[in-house]
Amino acid sequence: MNNTKMYLVRYAEIGTKGKNRYVFEDMLCKRIRNRLKPVGEFDVRRDFGRIYVEALSDFDADEAVERMTKIFGVVGICPVTVSEEFTYESIRDAVIEHFEETFADSGYDFSFKVHTRRINKDFPMNSMEIDGEIGHDILEKYESQGLHVDVHKPDIMVEVELRGEKGYVYSKILPGPGGLPVGTNGRAMSLLSGGIDSPVATYMVAKRGVEMEAVYFNSPPYTSARALEKVKKLGTIVSQYAGPIKLYVVNFTDVQLAIYDNCPHDQLTIIMKRYFFRMAEDLAKRDDCQAVITGESIGQVSSQTMQSLAVIDDAVDIPVFRPVIGMDKQEIVEYSQRIGTFETSIEPYEDCCTIFVDKHPVTKPKFHVIEKSERRLEGIIEPLYQKSLETAEVVILK
Ligand code: ATP
Ligand code: MG
Repeated sequence: MNNTKMYLVRYAEIGTKGKNRYVFEDMLCKRIRNRLKPVGEFDVRRDFGRIYVEALSDFDADEAVERMTKIFGVVGICPVTVSEEFTYESIRDAVIEHFEETFADSGYDFSFKVHTRRINKDFPMNSMEIDGEIGHDILEKYESQGLHVDVHKPDIMVEVELRGEKGYVYSKILPGPGGLPVGTNGRAMSLLSGGIDSPVATYMVAKRGVEMEAVYFNSPPYTSARALEKVKKLGTIVSQYAGPIKLYVVNFTDVQLAIYDNCPHDQLTIIMKRYFFRMAEDLAKRDDCQAVITGESIGQVSSQTMQSLAVIDDAVDIPVFRPVIGMDKQEIVEYSQRIGTFETSIEPYEDCCTIFVDKHPVTKPKFHVIEKSERRLEGIIEPLYQKSLETAEVVILK
């Protein structure tokens, strides 16, 4: 018996895609390959509706599992012990080895059941005979340490699969995030700020298989270099799930000052947001993104009332999706804690919105009033707008 380091990847939703199933599986394999590249050499393959990851070199198992359990589409990762020989003794030894590796630290005081599947029916014993024999042998070895059988509700289900000329043993499922493999559902441009909400929004859309790009509107010297670093850090955290994120850093200062100098101050945030959206739309179209994503939630601040959202939306034709629209702040906070962006989001920084923010911003803007204000920018803002887009810096976050 020869123990190969192997993992079985469990996935759920992509299994329901009918004829397109292989597209999803192939994309998931590709995502896994990419994420594991820095960890070692791996063979990632699709086999009878399962995905196996086999290590071909030395590697850090904790790091590999940490990376795989963050990939969208992965419901769980099962470490597998392989029996290279197709004999009962070899398979039983693989189960014992699996037990030693998996439970030596936590002890053997639990109930179990063996569940065998013979994909290769050439094996001389049937599934029930194998279940019985292995169950018996394992029990004998660990019974004195508390191990017992429970066929109805076992704590641990020991799965034994006989495929090809090998036996595969696994028992533990390390949960992944679920969702769909990124790259199976188009592309979107996320308005990424350094706050709590937009990284969560970006994560949520990526989780549905959408490849993410992002844009950050930077207003130096009114916003600090640290604010930009923070946005990059947040994007990098999200990229651990979503894959590489192309981030545009747009210098927005001149556009913002033009708005400040020419428009009523209680409308600044609304007009600024409309320019965010216009630029995001231009960048989105350039890169074949089908939608713009924001972290807006109804009623959170004055620019997120229903009236404000409607007026901001009106600036563009591209669909704008706001995945956290109906979530309370506390819910978004809990979500961000779960995905690991919270601690970075709450680092202090200057937000370009707060510097130019009026004491009494409009909460129920009217389309015609805002459009009238924007007409004051005609002949002034166009070259500044173009320059902002042309000088946008691109960073790949991964
Ligand atoms: P967040 O926590 O995501 O920063 P927020 O509660 O601070 O949001 P706003 O500042 O009103 O709310 O921003 C609403 C949304 O507009 C953000 O979620 C983000 O999608 C986008 N946004 C705000 N500022 C910027 C910026 N400087 N660059 C890019 N997008 C931004
Ligand atoms: Mg913000």
